[in-house]
Formats: sequence, C-alpha cells, structure tokens
Amino acid sequence: MNKIYMDNAATTPVRNEVLEAMIPYYGELYGNPSSLYQTASLSKRAVEHARAQVADALGAKPDEIYFTGGGTESDNWALIGAADGCGKEGGHIITTSIEHHAVLHTCRYLEEKGFDITYLPVDAEGLVTVRELEQAIRPDTFLISVMFANNEIGTIQPIKEIGRLAKERNILFHTDAVQAVGHIPIDVNVLNIDLLSLSAHKIYGPKGVGVLYVRKGTKLKSFIHGGAQERGRRAGTENVPGIVGMGHAIELVSAEMREENKRLIPLRDRLIEEILTAVPNARLNGHRTERLPGNVNISFEFVEGESILLLLDTKGIAASSGSACTSGSLDPSHVLLAIGLPHENAHGSIRLTLGRHNTESEVNEVIRELPPIIERLRGMSPLYEDFISTQR
Ligand SMILES: *Cc1c(COP(=O)(O)O)cnc(C)c1O
Repeated sequence: MNKIYMDNAATTPVRNEVLEAMIPYYGELYGNPSSLYQTASLSKRAVEHARAQVADALGAKPDEIYFTGGGTESDNWALIGAADGCGKEGGHIITTSIEHHAVLHTCRYLEEKGFDITYLPVDAEGLVTVRELEQAIRPDTFLISVMFANNEIGTIQPIKEIGRLAKERNILFHTDAVQAVGHIPIDVNVLNIDLLSLSAHKIYGPKGVGVLYVRKGTKLKSFIHGGAQERGRRAGTENVPGIVGMGHAIELVSAEMREENKRLIPLRDRLIEEILTAVPNARLNGHRTERLPGNVNISFEFVEGESILLLLDTKGIAASSGSACTSGSLDPSHVLLAIGLPHENAHGSIRLTLGRHNTESEVNEVIRELPPIIERLRGMSPLYEDFISTQR
C-alpha cells in the first residue's frame, strides 16, 4: 500500500460516513424500489432522498436528477441522447480538444453516425476562448459540450460565459463536471447548464455510480432501454446502495467545500512553488489560478514520467503521469499536446492531485523526495548530458 496517495483525480476512497450509510442497503434493506411492500418502499425512499441531496448540491429540482452507472455513462447519454433527440440526421456539435475520453470517444462515434464535430483548441494554459466558441457556432449547432474543469491539468473553463452564450443562441449546453463538483460551487440555473455529468467515486463515494442532470424540457432520448426506472429514461434496477452513497458523498463534499479549498489551495501552491524552485527545466502545466484546488501537473525535461512514477512508488508515493503509457498506449496525453507541449515534454509530466486525506507533512515529504528522483533520472539521461555540455 502507498502511504502517500496523491492521485485523487483518478479516484478517491469511500469515506466512512458514506460507507456506513450504504451498508444497510446491501443487507436488510435489500428491496427493489419498484416493488410494492414495506422493504421496497424503504429502498425507494432512500433513492428519492439521495436524489434530493444531489439536486440540492446543484441548485436543481429532484426530478431533473437521473442516476447512472458513472461519469462515463452520463457523458455518453448526454451526447448521444442529445444527438438522437435533435430531430435531424446529422447536425453540429462543438466540444474541446481537452475533454475526457468519455466525451471525445463518444464524439468520434457520433462522427461515424454523420454528425459534424468541432474540437475547439485551447490556449497554452488550457483555456477555451469564448469568442472562438462563438465563431464556431453554425445554424445547425444543437449542442455545446465543454468540461467544467480538466482532470489532467486542472484548468477551470469560463462555464458561466459559455452557458450564457449557449442560452442566447438556443443551443443545449452540456458540461462534464466530474472533477469540478466538491471544489467549485455549481448552480445549474445561474450557469445556464442543460446537461451535467457527475461521478461518485471522485468525491469519496462508490465506483460505478453517476448522475446526469437533465434540465426539464430538454429533448434527450433514452440511452439504456428496459424498465420504467428513473421516470422511464434510464432503465435498470437502481443501484440503491451506490445511489445512497452518491447522495451522502455529494452532500458532505458540498458542505465542506469552502473550508477544504482554503486548506488545499495553499498546499497545492507550496507543492508547485517548491518543486519548481528545486528542479531546473521544469514547468507547470495548466492555468496558475483558474485551477482546481488539488491539482499539480509539472513537466520535467529530459526524463520520462513513468520512470518518475516508479521511483516515487518505491518511496510510497502514488501519483500519475502525463502520458497514457500506463494504460497501454504510447501516445502522450492529448491534453498536454493540446496546450502545445512537445511530445518529449508531455512524456516527462506527472500529476499530483491532493484530496481530503493529504496532510502538510505529506506535501513536505513529496517536496523532499521528488527533486532527488529527477536528478537521479537526469543523471542517467544522455539527452541531459548533451544539454548540460551545451550550457557550459
Ligand atoms: C473520472 C472522469 C470521468 C469518468 O467517470 P467514471 O465514473 O470513472 O466513469 C469522466 N470525466 C472526467 C473529467 C473524469 O475525471
């Protein structure tokens, strides 16, 4: 087991309060919410309580909340459901080049089905330009999908401006808010969001449960077909324990957000500053201030992200890298390439994401352990030797 876990953007542990709330629904409260007896009605009541908890956290109405099998399903449903519901064969969608694969690969699928997709570029800090977004709008644009905050580099998008623009032009607006929830206050009405994706396991809830917020009146076709659950729009017997966990997780994370951000932001900033001070030829990826409170993403020249991760792991530190090598592909991250990093720098990037369990002393330990690791790896790098000899 790693003693320091700094990969909270990948997943988070289920918190005890959440687990305790879930356990009875695996045990004596096992009823199917659709059935008509007491045990079942307790399950149904638990699902409706969770729905209200999620709605409260988003400024939504309970009947606009749909439980799904996770963030990926929510993204798939939002895009494919909107495409099927737009009433045309084909049509135009605007998204960005830095979306999560759950959005990007769904867009590729829709391209095969005859839809046109614009993948907006981002600037060097990972921000979408609202003017560019506006210029990309066509008469047949029916959907804009822009993530709230990026999972790799932490950049937070101008969601309010995008929502306003989408509303003015009468275009549906979807946002993948999986990384934003619990860190950024979200009100779907203030932000003019029509569709919003969430996932429980990124906020100390269970894996395999998500939410799609669907504004009342939105033309969205069903994605999972079967029974009449979720008001006929998302079939399948409800994951009652998971849904209960989602409700508790979002309520807790929302209540603690302000205090937790106050704690995390200085920790994040110290981690960034101390690493950049200690290690030459390193740079921060993502926006300096429009950034998730727990996100640190740094590129180190002349080293491989995977090698850094392996050596960090020997010190008990869990982090993640800026390339997809770990997932069996040799391509560097599409996000790091989109902000203009050359391939070799994208390969030398690591991401440290802080969460509620990380302490100041853990941050200190990473600040102590990381610079010698980079130095050691550079000591073995012929590229670095060449670079140093040109500096002399
Ligand atoms: C984790 C993540 C997802 C996928 O959510 P799952 O519940 O793991 O399917 C989608 N989008 C973003 C931004 C994420 O970070």
